[in-house]
Formats: sequence, structure tokens, C-alpha cells
Amino acid sequence: MIAANSETERERSRTYYAANRDQVRERARARHMANPEKLRERKRAYYAANRQNILDSHLAWRTANTDKVRQMAAAYRAANREQVQNRSQEWRIANPGAASAIVSKRRAFKLAQRCTCCTDADIKKIYDIAALCGSGSHVDHKIQLSLGGRHCIKNLEAMTVDAHIEKSKLDASARADVRRRNTLLRNWATKWS
Ligand SMILES: [Zn+2]
Repeated sequence: MIAANSETERERSRTYYAANRDQVRERARARHMANPEKLRERKRAYYAANRQNILDSHLAWRTANTDKVRQMAAAYRAANREQVQNRSQEWRIANPGAASAIVSKRRAFKLAQRCTCCTDADIKKIYDIAALCGSGSHVDHKIQLSLGGRHCIKNLEAMTVDAHIEKSKLDASARADVRRRNTLLRNWATKWS
């Protein structure tokens, strides 16, 4: 009987909320504005009591919406370019080893895949063109070095940061396809050897 009543009660408040959504929210906002510390305290307590659930559900959402997560990250970077650059510079200063490892890896790829058809000056020209466009441009390898692309003017292009982010997403999914294919081939070879 109690359960039925509380269901009726819930149904009634749902109907009331649906009909008076704006006023209900406005009143709640006014209450919170009047006592922000209380709201913060309640949020903290809720988070402390449900931390693992909250983290799990965030992770589940991020896993189910990878495209959206990437879009949001790209939009955030575009809107906060200077901050992002400052933070990444701070990170490089705080983690010189890791930062130089990334640079050396890239350099090793470039050296290993340097073409024989053009000079350093030819290649530098493309970087100069990108630099002329300011901080909003990058130099991209049309075919990624990690997929066997050459460090060559025929494989280099200056593009805007936004276009580069878009292209990098496609490149990342191509890399994932290659990894999946290699795993399939390995498993297939193991099975039949
Ligand atoms: Zn070349």
C-alpha cells in the first residue's frame, strides 16, 4: 500500500515538474544562489559517497562516445589555444626526458624515412611557409611517417591546426585499422602453423 502511494506521489510530482519545469528550476536556482555553500557541501558529500559509480559511468560514457569526446577535446583546444599551449610548454619543462623522447622518436622516423630527392633547404621551405601563417598552422606528413610515408616535400604540406586535428583523427583510425589487421593476421598464422 505504501509502495503504491509513493508511486502515485512520484507520478504526481513528475506531472507537476513536466507542467512547471521552468518555475521549479528557477526556484531551485534561487535557493542555491541564496546558499551556495550548502549546495557545494551537498555535491561534495554526494561525490564522496558515490565516487566509484560516478567514475565508472563517466568512463562508460566516454567509451561509448569516443567521437564526441574527440570533438569536445578539439573544440576545447580551439577555444583555449593559448592556455593549452602554455600548459603543454609547462609539461615539457617539467618532463624534459619524456618531451625529448617524443622529439627524438619523431626525428628518428624522419631520418629513417628521409627521401633522396630533395634538399634540407627544400624541406625547410615548407616549414617556413607554415611559420608565415603564424601559430594557426602545422606541417603535416600526407602519409604518416609511422605508415611508411617519406620525409619529403612531396609528402609534406602546410595546413591549419584545425585541418591538421581533423586529419590526425582519420590517421589515428587508419592506424587502428592496421593494428586490427595485423592482429587478425597474427592469430590466423598461429592457428595454421
Ligand atoms: Zn623528396
